[in-house]
Amino acid sequence: MKTDFLVIGSGIAGLTYALKISRKYPDKKVLIMTKAAADETNTKYAQGGVAVVNDLENDSFEKHIEDTLIAGDGLCNKNVVSIVVKEGPDRVRELIEWGAQFDKEKDGDYKLGKEGGHSEFRIIHHKDITGWEMERALLEAVGRQPNIEINKHSFVIDIITQHHLGYLVTKASPDIECYGVYVLNLETNRIETILAGITLLATGGNGQVYRTTTNPAIATGDGVAMVYRAKGRIENMEFIQFHPTALYEPGLKGQAFLITEAVRGDGGILRNKDGEAFMARYDSRLDLAPRDIVARAIDSEMKRTGTEHVWLDCRHFSKEKFTEHFPNIYQKCLSIGIDIAVSMIPVAPAAHYSCGGIKTDEWGRTSITNLYACGECSSTGLHGANRLASNSLLEAMVFAHRCFIDVSEKASLMQTANGVPEWNAQGTAEPKEMILITQSLKELQLVMSDYVGIVRNTVRLERALKRLDLLFGETEALYQSTSLSTALLELRNLITIGYLIVKGASFRKESRGLHFDTDYPEKSEIVQNIVL
Ligand SMILES: Cc1cc2nc3c(=O)[nH]c(=O)nc-3n(C[C@H](O)[C@H](O)[C@H](O)COP(=O)(O)OP(=O)(O)OC[C@H]3O[C@@H](n4cnc5c(N)ncnc54)[C@H](O)[C@@H]3O)c2cc1C
Repeated sequence: MKTDFLVIGSGIAGLTYALKISRKYPDKKVLIMTKAAADETNTKYAQGGVAVVNDLENDSFEKHIEDTLIAGDGLCNKNVVSIVVKEGPDRVRELIEWGAQFDKEKDGDYKLGKEGGHSEFRIIHHKDITGWEMERALLEAVGRQPNIEINKHSFVIDIITQHHLGYLVTKASPDIECYGVYVLNLETNRIETILAGITLLATGGNGQVYRTTTNPAIATGDGVAMVYRAKGRIENMEFIQFHPTALYEPGLKGQAFLITEAVRGDGGILRNKDGEAFMARYDSRLDLAPRDIVARAIDSEMKRTGTEHVWLDCRHFSKEKFTEHFPNIYQKCLSIGIDIAVSMIPVAPAAHYSCGGIKTDEWGRTSITNLYACGECSSTGLHGANRLASNSLLEAMVFAHRCFIDVSEKASLMQTANGVPEWNAQGTAEPKEMILITQSLKELQLVMSDYVGIVRNTVRLERALKRLDLLFGETEALYQSTSLSTALLELRNLITIGYLIVKGASFRKESRGLHFDTDYPEKSEIVQNIVL
């Protein structure tokens, strides 16, 4: 199959880009591939909102830039931060024109929330289901574009480069080109070859590499793993943000429910098992310190008191206000027997956001020609060593637009490649035992959570690497000999993600932002990105 523009991923990043490019080129074809249902994305689960400066009387671009730089702990690209903060309001306006609704005050101004690390109230939101509303509006707008096709349940396996034409491609190859992708059609179980003029990766995060995560099952780092296999550049993978307050549910498997930071923004107080508001011992910004500090403080309290969670106290809230701003959280808590007006909410940190990813320039160009990346799978330089809360939806919109601008300039020169071979599945057989895959995934998640979590050190990282090596060998053997499935492809990608996180963490001989290493507790004087 051939298409002009190929988009992998149907979250905010992929849909925004697809919409823009399809409108600009109504005669060209835009194909979106997504491995699950169209709306099953990290985007759908975003709660808190979008950080954007739109009240210039009480806020300023400079303050938002400064807050982002402080959170990023010396590693942000200042030019990129300025671009995202200043271009953000236009992108949000576009989204509103496309139909997204954000909560308003009685006088018509947007209601603004505040989250950790922000010096002002600037988070626009749609109750506590902001991402759901954005995804809804985008999918509806995409549905109105006749030249966009969405192929659901289509699992992209790998990007096609000169390697597939029989050439030797290494990290040192000067001009690696992307010709399209191989994709497993999950409805027919056949592997298809899709050739494209330009390909955009918008494959989202990788939270599933940890045992507990706020991310849905699709968040397996596929795009990053594909680019790494294709010898493209990957950056700063060690900076995994653990959200301090996921709802603690004993025995839970899979996605943890998030209690948005906006609850603390509205006055929620963290308490330990003795009822102490412990954040006072860790940071003068108390419960609204940046996420890395709050997550480490909770981790330390849990270890100190031997508990599996701490408490979030909202008992002093007006019930009416809480249910108005956080109806989804209120209902979720109630469904497991917690009335927030009477009882505190048990919370614990969970893997939440990947700050690093596919290295791009300020136009979303990756190190591979004709391959762009935006959204959570990319590393643009915005987040540095730690993402400021609610900056990611903003970044996805700004960079989707920038990819669109850059791609537009090349569109008239686009070509699709010739001579690309079909996928060769000869010699593979149905896997005999699924347990080989499911057990390896469990092992991987345990290794990553126990040795490469919020606190790291050399011994733990070395141990993790040895175990990952073993899992890698076993999984590659399965990959070569059995027919492909979502479970096997995701496991293979997650092992690569684990490896990249461990490698990044091992090279970073310091503690900075989200990476805390007890053997190197100080910041190094050399400020550098780790590129793999
Ligand atoms: C619970 C939660 C709350 C959050 N709250 C906020 C918030 O309040 N504010 C904020 O700014 N950010 C928030 N975030 C982060 C933010 O939601 C994400 O960073 C953002 O939505 C990522 O968008 P994306 O388009 O890059 O990826 P996603 O929305 O995750 O979309 C990825 C897409 O890629 C597809 N895909 C992946 N791999 C493949 C493959 N191999 N083949 C085909 N398709 C593939 C998936 O199916 C999916 O369609 C939150 C995240 C979570 C999980």
